[in-house]
Amino acid sequence: MKFDVLVVGAGPAGSSCARKLSKAGLKVLLIEKSSLPRFKLCAGCLSARTLRLLPEGYERLILNRISSGLLGFRGKEYYEVPAYKEVAQIIDRKDFDHFLTLKAQEAGAELLEAELLGFEREGTSYKVFTSKGILRADFVVGADGFHSRTAKLLGYRKRKFFKSLEFFTKGELKDKVLIEVGWVKRGYLWVFPHGEGISVGIATTGEENLFELLRGYCEEKGINFKKPKGWHIPFVEEERDLQLGRERVLLVGDAAGMTDPLLGEGIYYAIWGAGLLASAILENPADPLPAYRKRLKPLVEELVYAGRIARLAYGFQRVAYRMGKGYALRSFYELLAGSKGYKSLYLKGWLSFLKHFAIEKFRL
Ligand SMILES: Cc1cc2nc3c(=O)[nH]c(=O)nc-3n(C[C@H](O)[C@H](O)[C@H](O)COP(=O)(O)OP(=O)(O)OC[C@H]3O[C@@H](n4cnc5c(N)ncnc54)[C@H](O)[C@@H]3O)c2cc1C
Repeated sequence: MKFDVLVVGAGPAGSSCARKLSKAGLKVLLIEKSSLPRFKLCAGCLSARTLRLLPEGYERLILNRISSGLLGFRGKEYYEVPAYKEVAQIIDRKDFDHFLTLKAQEAGAELLEAELLGFEREGTSYKVFTSKGILRADFVVGADGFHSRTAKLLGYRKRKFFKSLEFFTKGELKDKVLIEVGWVKRGYLWVFPHGEGISVGIATTGEENLFELLRGYCEEKGINFKKPKGWHIPFVEEERDLQLGRERVLLVGDAAGMTDPLLGEGIYYAIWGAGLLASAILENPADPLPAYRKRLKPLVEELVYAGRIARLAYGFQRVAYRMGKGYALRSFYELLAGSKGYKSLYLKGWLSFLKHFAIEKFRL
C-alpha cells in the first residue's frame, strides 16, 4: 500500500499532524503499536493556551479546571497564588489521545495498529517495515515519543531529559495544582488533581533516588502512596538539542525532544509542532526540512527562554520560591493562558530575580 505520509505514533503529536495533513487532502496512514485507547503516564495538565489548538469537542474531556497554584518549598513552607481565571485544565491521556486520533480519522487518516520496525529509501519515497508488513510512503513522520525508533533509525542517540515517576491515588485538590521545589537539584515534585483523585509525581535531570523521595514525601503528607510508574521527559533548551529528522523523515513532539525544560510541559509543544510540520510538508514537499526549521523558530525561542529560566530557577530554588509570591507566578499564569511568552517572562523577570537574590543572600 502506498501513502503520501506515514505517521508513526498516535500520541498528541502524531494524531494532530495526521489530522492536518488529511484535512489538506493527503493520503495519510497513522500507525500505533498499542491498542487504542491506551494508557500514557502523564499528569494530563494542559495549559489554557493549548485549547485553541484543539479540534472541536474537547470540552467533555476536561476533568478539572485550574485557577490557582500552590507553591511549596521542601514540604515545609507554602503559599497560594490565585489566578482568578482558568489557566489550565486536567485531562486523562487515555481519553484525550484517543479523541485526537478519532479526529484524525474523521479528517480521513487511516489508522493501523502496527509497530514501526524500520525503513529504507526507495527512489523518492520510503519502504516502511512494520509488524503488519511492508508499506510505502513519500514521507515518514516520527511521532513515536521519547524512545522514538524513528529517531534511532536516523542515528540520533543522545538527548537531554528528566527522569520521572508518577502514580494516581485518592485525594482532593479540585481547582489547584501544587508544585514543590527544593526536593531535587533540577526538577520538581507535583500533586495535581485528576478527576476525583490526584496524580503525584516527581521529575529530575539528576541522580536522586526518586522512589525514596516520593515515598518519604507521601508518608510525611499522609498521601496514599502507590507503586509509581516511570518514564522520561525529553527537553530542549538550545536549538541544537532539537532532533528534527532528515530529508523526508521528520520528527515531532517528544521524538524531536520538543518539551519545556522548566516544567516538562510537552502536549502543547507536540500539538503546536505537529501543525508546523504539516504546514512545512504542504508548503515544500520536495524539501520540507528547511521550511519546518523556519516555522519552528517561535516554538524554539520559547523553549530556549524556558531553558534560561530553568537554569536560574533550579540553580537558585529558594530565590525562585520567593519570587513566585510576587511577580513570577502571576506572570506565569499569563504565559499559561497564552498572553505572554517565556521570552518576555525572562526579560522582565531579571530585575525581580536580582532583588530577590539580594534579599536571600543578605537576608534583607
Ligand atoms: C510523568 C509525566 C508527566 C507528564 N505530565 C505532563 C503534563 O501534565 N502536561 C504536559 O503537557 N506534558 C506532560 N508530560 C509530557 C507529555 O506526556 C509528552 O510531552 C507528550 O506525551 C508528547 O506527545 P507525543 O505525541 O510526542 O508522544 P507520546 O504521547 O509519547 O506518543 C507516542 C506514541 O507513539 C507510539 N509508538 C512508540 N513507538 C512506536 C513504534 N515503534 N511504532 C508505532 N507506534 C509507536 C506510542 O505507543 C505512543 O502512543 C508528562 C510526561 C511524563 C512522563
